[in-house]
Amino acid sequence: MEENLLNQIITNSPIATFVIDAVHRLVHWNRACELITSMPANQLIGTTRTWSAFYPQERPVMADLIVDGRLSEVENYYTGKYHRSPVLEDAWEAEDFFPHMPDGGKWLAFTATALKDDQGQIIGAIETLRDVTAKKRAETARRESEHLLNEIIAGCPVPMFVLNAQHEVSHWNRACESLNGALAKDMIGTRLQWKAFYPKERPVMADLIIDHKINEIPERYRGTCKPSVLIDNAWEATAHFPAFQSGPKWLYFTAAPLHGLDGNIAGAVETLQDVTAQKNYEQQLEHQANYDTLTGLANRNLLKNRLRQEIILAQRNNNLLALLFLDLDNFKQINDTLGHEVGDEVIRAFGERISTAVRDVDTVSRLAGDEYVILLHAPHNVDFITNIVHRLLDLVGEKFCIRERELYIGCSIGIAVFPRDGESAEELMSNADAAMYRAKMFDKGGFRYYTEDLNRGASLWMELKQELHYALTAGQLELYYQPQLNIQTNRIAGAEALLRWNHPKKGLLLPDVFIPLAEESGLIVPIGNWVMQTAVAEAQQWKNIEGFDLRLSVNVSARQFRYQELPDLLDAVINHTGFHPLMLELELTESLVMNNPAKAARLLAELKGKGFSLAMDDFGTGYSSLAYLRRFPFDMIKIDQSFIVDLGKSTEAEAIVRAMLTLCKALGLHVVAEGVETEEQRAFLAAEGCDEIQGFLYSKPLRADKFTRLLREQQSLKPE
Ligand code: C2E
Ligand code: CA
Ligand code: CA
Repeated sequence: MEENLLNQIITNSPIATFVIDAVHRLVHWNRACELITSMPANQLIGTTRTWSAFYPQERPVMADLIVDGRLSEVENYYTGKYHRSPVLEDAWEAEDFFPHMPDGGKWLAFTATALKDDQGQIIGAIETLRDVTAKKRAETARRESEHLLNEIIAGCPVPMFVLNAQHEVSHWNRACESLNGALAKDMIGTRLQWKAFYPKERPVMADLIIDHKINEIPERYRGTCKPSVLIDNAWEATAHFPAFQSGPKWLYFTAAPLHGLDGNIAGAVETLQDVTAQKNYEQQLEHQANYDTLTGLANRNLLKNRLRQEIILAQRNNNLLALLFLDLDNFKQINDTLGHEVGDEVIRAFGERISTAVRDVDTVSRLAGDEYVILLHAPHNVDFITNIVHRLLDLVGEKFCIRERELYIGCSIGIAVFPRDGESAEELMSNADAAMYRAKMFDKGGFRYYTEDLNRGASLWMELKQELHYALTAGQLELYYQPQLNIQTNRIAGAEALLRWNHPKKGLLLPDVFIPLAEESGLIVPIGNWVMQTAVAEAQQWKNIEGFDLRLSVNVSARQFRYQELPDLLDAVINHTGFHPLMLELELTESLVMNNPAKAARLLAELKGKGFSLAMDDFGTGYSSLAYLRRFPFDMIKIDQSFIVDLGKSTEAEAIVRAMLTLCKALGLHVVAEGVETEEQRAFLAAEGCDEIQGFLYSKPLRADKFTRLLREQQSLKPE
């Protein structure tokens, strides 16, 4: 009965169980065993072939080993898969895969324990089996997906790292290693993520996301961050990392929360992208859009932006602003005579020099060509502005050494002051420009403030241009004559004809005011013709009346010189009057000649061929070289008054004039010194061998009748 009950229990136990006896014969093979192994009990009971339910070849099952006490062999048959039962003494547990079992093999977990009699003799063994295939497969699948996840992260070409809910690094991928230089093995499991980015400990974006500190993100990353448009609660930003582990870099980075099954934040993932090259390019583009490539100064664009900002600030703070327009006075000459490369260097050097005259808060910009604009930030008052302007003019008046040449580059400055001269950027710009234009016309090398009446002045200017059209026919033009004195004999050797305009309302106007207008409008050609005819006719008269032969000098403008009819005009004048061409001296400025030396040489040769005298005017201001002086057929050199004015004051000026005189003598040229105003200057020139002088010391330019009187006086003094 007891035996029967035991059988019942084993047979019906839901746990697969079998029992063998001391001689390995299978005694029990219950129903559950049949189901797991698909081996019916009747094929095995009473045999010693229990193994055949599990293996294709004969080998002991665990129960067999236990029955024989071959416990040490358990290790051989179940290497690494068995252990002693933690619950039962003398019981063993193991787990193994049985590939030959049905349904493509099975994972079984089994326990075996010895059955003993009262004396402790082993009389058999009982073994239980559990089918753990499903559990095993799930585990493998889980491990596989974990592995795949690791692979995805590690192998992903986007640098990224993952933090868990405790802010520990759980992933630090290979791309991240190579971007950052920090190795995964040093990062994973730590909270040292900040070290890769910052010199001091602080949260990275992923940390903030884990802690739900979303509102700290904009604070820490300023204007560069924004919520992702792709992922909820993810953020992106671009920032510069000066302490980035692999060197300073610009990074575009994103961070997104990771949620667990329960929906709570389980960590965060952060991706990185090196955008340094792109940023550099953007900055370069921005630089190009705002800075002048030649000088590195602000360009018009940046100036306008700054001006607009400064206007807003000035309105708020109630302060002044000053806009200074600078325009070089001799740039075109330099560019034309010395070439564009020298011109470029002049532009650069000039920009550098004016930058030194202003404060860091001021903006120095170059608009175009030889135009510069300086924006003075919050000058205290107009005197302050005037001081800076004086400083600028002094600085730019000093010599520039460019390519071993000494150049003098003046500039004219126009000034508009906010709010008096305009309230908008455009108004200030155009008014400063107008002031500069006026400075150029009336105070070349000086400065002008824009004022309300300058507006009127500008329209007057236009009016003047109109009026000049009528001046010629209305007989408002007149010639004055300034004597040129032989420095040895102190007698008049010639006279220069200088144009005047008797304006009906403005009175006597000097040529510097209207010659530029005449040049600009083309009127210089008919006016020049009138000058030539009138001067020659008047000089002819002196001769007829006084019986006095003297040289007449007439200024020829660039425009006239360019017109091919100059030789024809001269022919006509000579034919008409019988004036001796040798007595007619044409004054051409040095810069005019240097403008196009080849062409000038041809035309000068033609004029020389017709017998005219040629004088180079304003010598010393046009940068001509010695070689050129020799090439042109000049008879006379007129040393510019800017050199004469310093005689007796500056040894440098004296040295220059002395050198000019030596040079001209050596080339057989006559020399006139212009603008001689003092006895001291005259004495110096006489001592250094200058031939003639012209200047207020002896006489201002005189009306024709006064000049005639002067001649008559001299005639009467003529030594017999
Ligand atoms: P420029 O040819 O250099 O003429 C000399 C200028 O120096 C004249 O000015 C003369 O009045 C001035 N001057 C003479 N002696 C002295 C002196 O001791 N001190 C000072 N400070 N100045 C002195 P002006 O008459 O006002 O003429 C100015 C310029 O206008 C001339 O300079 C010349 O380039 C131009 N110009 C005058 N008449 C004509 C003309 O008929 N045709 C052309 N194309 N240009 C002319
Ligand atoms: Ca002259
Ligand atoms: Ca001159």
